[in-house]
Amino acid sequence: MALIVQKYGGTSVGNPERIKNVAKRVAKFHAQGHQVVVVVSAMSGETNKLIALAKEISASPDPRELDQICATGEQVTIGLLAMALKEIGVPARSYTGGQVKVLTDNTFTKARILSIDEHNMRADLDAGKVVVVAGFQGVDADGNVTTLGRGGSDTSGVALAAALKADECQIYTDVDGVYTTDPRVVPEAKKLDTITFEEMLEMASLGSKVLQIRSVEFAGKYKVKLRVLSSFQDEGEGTLITVEEDKNMEQPIISGIAFNRDEAKLTMLGVPDTPGIAYQILGSIADANIDVDMIIQNVGHDGTTDFSFTVNRGDYAKAQGILETVKQKLGAREVTGDNKICKVSAVGVGMRSHPGVASKMFKALADEGINIQMISTSEIKISVVLDEKYLELAVRVLHRTFGLDQ
Ligand code: ADP
Ligand code: ASP
Ligand code: MG
Repeated sequence: MALIVQKYGGTSVGNPERIKNVAKRVAKFHAQGHQVVVVVSAMSGETNKLIALAKEISASPDPRELDQICATGEQVTIGLLAMALKEIGVPARSYTGGQVKVLTDNTFTKARILSIDEHNMRADLDAGKVVVVAGFQGVDADGNVTTLGRGGSDTSGVALAAALKADECQIYTDVDGVYTTDPRVVPEAKKLDTITFEEMLEMASLGSKVLQIRSVEFAGKYKVKLRVLSSFQDEGEGTLITVEEDKNMEQPIISGIAFNRDEAKLTMLGVPDTPGIAYQILGSIADANIDVDMIIQNVGHDGTTDFSFTVNRGDYAKAQGILETVKQKLGAREVTGDNKICKVSAVGVGMRSHPGVASKMFKALADEGINIQMISTSEIKISVVLDEKYLELAVRVLHRTFGLDQ
């Protein structure tokens, strides 16, 4: 007997028929004697609809109220799935994040999980029930409903698996595993049987939305056995996220190509080239709770320098406003920006022992006439910022260049 946490994403619970199918799969594991905790997302499209609704009332919705609204999507699916299970004779009980008690901080719309009370879930599991938990949501110390950021049900699933010391956390979605790149963009993409935590972490943070990055962080930290599988297939082992030692000796240099369309670039031109400017610029951005991704400070000339960085596209306008204020304070010349950019990255632990990956990547892009605007590297990834119009072309070309089509 094992304790398994299964998470089903929006498409997998997208209509009553699919919810009934999920119930059947859960029933199968339950019948085999396993204890099962199921985490569900809202039905596909629901969270977008709720956000759009809120925006009809307010252009920049109050974050607390937005979480109050968005959390309802998952509340519907837990009730439906628990009912579907009972209909086929499986005892089940649904819980909102607050009812479990998934305690989070109070950073509305991107809250972090602080602790999970396993008491209620354990009692139900021991009584032979399937526990159905709403993903994406929690509750803060004052009892406010919070949400964990888009795609956050993955994190709920892994966090529950960690708290319950589950034997495995299975993420069921609409693809049958993690691919060398998004199979919707490159049909030649190949499914990976395994991928290391490190690589998955990079892929997720660089835009591969198959797993929310925090779920991978959680799994790595708490040693959760994590697998991505299809909810539409009965067969298949999916993709197992592994620690590096487990992998075969013979590794490809590049494991995958990730991309992100949600980026925007901001530049402050003619900043006085004195100590502390990076702090003054980025400090005020951080104070506004805006995450900064790539940063470039150019060589100074004539006592001034140019400073560029990228942010999430949703934070673009806000960041621009902040920079205008900082510009006055620093006596900089101009603030410019571009929100029609994208980031494309090559990821692979094999890069550590193989020099020349970057030049191969730059040549492949140059051969297609694609201009690189920014570059950033780490031990196991190379990212470039490009004009958005080149995204598909760049991903396809790099996928081919690194032999991932084979
Ligand atoms: P869910 O609703 O189940 O959480 P998501 O839409 O969040 O599903 O994630 C699954 C999607 O992630 C796939 O449909 C696919 O288009 C996309 N995706 C992006 N990169 C990858 C990748 N490297 N491998 C597999 N899927 C990917
Ligand atoms: N329903 C939420 C979203 O659409 C959470 C999730 O699906 O993981 O972002
Ligand atoms: Mg998702």
